[in-house]
Amino acid sequence: MPNRGLPVVVIGSGAAGLFTALQAAPVLPVLVLTRAGAAEANTAWAQGGIAAALGHGDSPRSHLEDTVAAGAGLVDEAAARVLCDEGPARIRELAALGTPFDLSGGTFALGREAAHSANRIVHAGGDRTGARLEQALLAAARAAGVTIQDMSEVTGIIVEHGRARGVRIHTVAGAERAIEARAVVIATGGAGQLYSHTTNPAVARGEGLALAFDAGAELADLEFYQFHPTALRFPGVRPFLISEAVRGEGAVLRNAAGERFMPRYHPLADLAPRDIVARSIVSEMQRDGADHVVLDCTEVAARMDIVARFPSIASFCGELGIDIRTTPIPVAPAAHYFMGGVRTDTWGRTTVAGLYAAGEAACTGVHGANRLASNSLLETVVFGGRTAAHIASGAHQPAESDAHAIAVDCARFAPPSHAALQDLMWHAAGMERDAGRMRDGLATLRSWRTTEEGSPSARVAALMLEAALAREESRGAHFRSDFPELDDAHWHRRQVFRRAD
Ligand SMILES: Cc1cc2nc3c(=O)[nH]c(=O)nc-3n(C[C@H](O)[C@H](O)[C@H](O)COP(=O)(O)OP(=O)(O)OC[C@H]3O[C@@H](n4cnc5c(N)ncnc54)[C@H](O)[C@@H]3O)c2cc1C
Repeated sequence: MPNRGLPVVVIGSGAAGLFTALQAAPVLPVLVLTRAGAAEANTAWAQGGIAAALGHGDSPRSHLEDTVAAGAGLVDEAAARVLCDEGPARIRELAALGTPFDLSGGTFALGREAAHSANRIVHAGGDRTGARLEQALLAAARAAGVTIQDMSEVTGIIVEHGRARGVRIHTVAGAERAIEARAVVIATGGAGQLYSHTTNPAVARGEGLALAFDAGAELADLEFYQFHPTALRFPGVRPFLISEAVRGEGAVLRNAAGERFMPRYHPLADLAPRDIVARSIVSEMQRDGADHVVLDCTEVAARMDIVARFPSIASFCGELGIDIRTTPIPVAPAAHYFMGGVRTDTWGRTTVAGLYAAGEAACTGVHGANRLASNSLLETVVFGGRTAAHIASGAHQPAESDAHAIAVDCARFAPPSHAALQDLMWHAAGMERDAGRMRDGLATLRSWRTTEEGSPSARVAALMLEAALAREESRGAHFRSDFPELDDAHWHRRQVFRRAD
């Protein structure tokens, strides 16, 4: 790295981390630290695509309306407006830096996804959008002189006199080391690995939220976790996502008796909102004593070349002996996307000076209580770009604190195993919640011993349970069987947490 002073340290090498690094690199030295291989990130697994108002007749305003509607009353409209307005230009930038988006007639081929009122999903390699994006960003970041140090897990943010000054890392070689920084960006992605069934890869353990909380930053919307209805359920195999787009093409869900059940639950049947499809599948599984239902694509295969349309799904299933053209795919819901995260403003600033967050680890408020499909990759680049711009500007002011932030203590719990934590969260803070289950979950968590380090994931889990228990209503992805109604009068507000001391 040329000697241009202290680097901007970016934690995480998914789309948010790499795009932030790439944008800052012309002005400042940048060091990306990442806990596993450079390409190991949620980003690389994304299938459907990225939403932006690029089509004829579409507009950022219409994209904004869809985003606000999906978020069930809690979307921060100012942030969502930034997302939708700046989206199209960021997609063109991604194309210019080498992302091989699929084209049709010389322009972006635009797909449609649930709850979008226009065709606005750009994709690459059919259903390989994330992998292609990750490769393009890694190549561009390296070419721009960004240093990417893999196998380096960040275990703490160094804060001095109220300002983030660097990070502590743990390398696979077992070394502990401090690295000084002019600014630190948390781009650590999601938290699917807090649950026993998840579409997220092993690196998604929610640790960035614990890093931020420990450093004194605020966390928001922790009760809102989105479950995807259709992840592959196959013994010994990670729940690989079977995209909603497969149902969009006409695939249907069937229960153990082979019956199509979604028409019994919702007028939109298999294309009902994600949370409704997920809960309906769970009801069928419980009634039948099964651990999955099936997604039947056979009629779609009779109409179109389904293997060409969904190459990665076809090949993943094919390796397990499931020919999706002839054999229904066993599926069940799985933890997928975290709407909550480190509270930031629209420049990626947290409430700690010099500490920023971007991507799935951040919470700008654009998703509210439920994310609109394909807005998350867009968020990584729109707010990653703005984070880099703010750091490059040299301004130092942190974001304003939330006047209603709740101060909480969070002990450093050490679960007997990570699997024990995942089981606890699956049962206590899953798709269907009630006070009894959440209280029991919290009690178990609090009964675990505490250690000097504890488990960062367990700290985040405890805060998620606190937030979910406090919100006595059902909204967006947060469904409480003991409070099934929306309570706009009392709960039309976000919950923000910060460390008590
Ligand atoms: C299967 C699947 C399909 C999806 N499909 C879509 C889609 O079609 N469209 C869409 O918009 N969104 C989709 N999403 C969501 C989207 O992929 C993610 O929200 C987005 O990629 C998050 O990007 P990120 O850069 O914030 O985090 P990530 O891509 O997850 O990157 C996080 C990085 O942080 C690193 N890290 C974590 N903790 C530490 C630590 N302590 N120290 C150092 N490094 C650390 C990780 O190793 C990783 O490199 C999908 C997600 C999944 C899992």
